[in-house]
Amino acid sequence: MRDTWPLLRDSDFPPIERDRLETLQLNLGYLCNLSCIHCHVNAGPRRTELMDRDTMQLALEVARRHGVRALDLTGGSPEMNPHFRWLVGEARAAGLHVMDRLNPTIMEEPGYDWVGTFLATHRVEAVASLPCYSQANVDEQRGQGVFEASIRALRTLNSLGYGQPDSGLVLNLVYNPNGAFLPPNQERLQADYARLLGENFGIVFNKLFALANMPIQRYGSWLLSKGRFESYMATLRGAHREENLAGVMCRSLVSVDYLGYLYDCDFNQMLHLPLGAGDASEDTARPHLRDLLDAPPTRRIATAQHCFGCTAGQGSSCGGALR
Ligand code: SF4
Ligand code: SF4
Repeated sequence: MRDTWPLLRDSDFPPIERDRLETLQLNLGYLCNLSCIHCHVNAGPRRTELMDRDTMQLALEVARRHGVRALDLTGGSPEMNPHFRWLVGEARAAGLHVMDRLNPTIMEEPGYDWVGTFLATHRVEAVASLPCYSQANVDEQRGQGVFEASIRALRTLNSLGYGQPDSGLVLNLVYNPNGAFLPPNQERLQADYARLLGENFGIVFNKLFALANMPIQRYGSWLLSKGRFESYMATLRGAHREENLAGVMCRSLVSVDYLGYLYDCDFNQMLHLPLGAGDASEDTARPHLRDLLDAPPTRRIATAQHCFGCTAGQGSSCGGALR
């Protein structure tokens, strides 16, 4: 895989600072049942990196000390971490809001039929990836049969109350472009998703998050191999909107890797760019969850050219468009 970091490092992205820490985003590991082309964490069925229970315990303690509001669980497929259910149970008991970024096909894998019921019982917000409402586009990006499996899983979530009016069980969907272009207008796309998924499959959901693809890892390598890296970067930079800087997720979120090291966001984690850009080559200088037991995270945020992916057009964060 080709590395885009040397092309991103020298940056004119405007400086930004952290506000209050609201969310800990825990990457529970890189194990996933899929290997999508746009995956910025290079997750897949052969990855073995998984967060252990001690690190989760530390994260819960940090959340308690800093009055963190939410745990945002990501991966890979977070549910494939053997301590997933323990973590969710503890977090909910501690009053934390929990979001699970799930790829819905996990619910169809042998041994994972508990996922939907478990999430509903613990009233976890489900943030389910469905990169398009078209079967051809989803299968091209994620693999043969993924669309149909996703649809079946979303129907199961609906049958458990997810996305249904007044159930309080929130089902949000995530869209990524399947090429080197920015997401279309989120509001209009959400209306299209609602109409087509409703008419064709009887599926309901709460919101659609339209996320831009980041020019890093597997997707960045794909851009390089197609000779489209420079033009994609020009698209991101050309669409930069200063007003999006106020809402980028790194202002209120800290991302934690499976070993407990800290980053300003999931993308920086994948670029091995430590929180506030300490020295990535020195383990002792890399901020860790342990460092947050007694002090808040630094206000400094490490940025580079990929950050334009968060501020281009309508903006992009873990909660979708910024405007
Ligand atoms: S489902 Fe998500 S984590 Fe898994 S490979 Fe695809 S993009 Fe990556
Ligand atoms: S890529 Fe990460 S550090 Fe850069 S603006 Fe987006 S969230 Fe912030």
